[in-house]
Amino acid sequence: MLSADFLNLEAEIDMINSSEADWFHLDVMDGRFVPNITFGMPIIAAMKKRAKKPFDVHLMIVEPEKYFEAFANAGADVLSVHIEVSPHMHRSMQAIKALGMKAGVAINPHTPISMLADVINDIDVVCMMSVNPGFGGQKFISKTIDKIKQLKQLIKDNGAQTLIEIDGGVTLENAAGIIAAGADVLVAGNTVFGSPDPKDTIKRLKQVGK
Ligand code: ZN
Repeated sequence: MLSADFLNLEAEIDMINSSEADWFHLDVMDGRFVPNITFGMPIIAAMKKRAKKPFDVHLMIVEPEKYFEAFANAGADVLSVHIEVSPHMHRSMQAIKALGMKAGVAINPHTPISMLADVINDIDVVCMMSVNPGFGGQKFISKTIDKIKQLKQLIKDNGAQTLIEIDGGVTLENAAGIIAAGADVLVAGNTVFGSPDPKDTIKRLKQVGK
């Protein structure tokens, strides 16, 4: 939603509602973990009233555990926290699940996959950043493909059910390669909202996965 027209959020939400998209992806930035600042609970709660699909909330903030309950109340269905700012990941995953949400871990492009090894069975979704977090509209980092394969292996080796979500620089051109490497969920902001026919672009992205 970071790439949506904020002056016409209602129409943008309706477009997603009537499209083949599965989730809304909401990037919350605090100006501390990342240089940018986006939106927080009041905007998410307002959007939730109109939206008919789950809210996948990606927290790019320091001390995210302070706000788990607030984001649950605002309408988050999936809540992801960055491993780089969450030293007690097991505890965070349990706290998120106890509030009725799916628990996600987000990981920066240059953070090793091995950091996830001991908690992989507690994670519902790994949100793998394929650009450096902070801004929409960046180019996909190609090394991500190897990291997806590594992560898929880790999930298999542990018998986990974790979904792999790829966030940043996903396009109609690179989506097939990302899915072939093992991704389950694609986040597409600029590719969708920057296209002349966003709903058709979503449809085409969904076809890539079939
Ligand atoms: Zn995101």
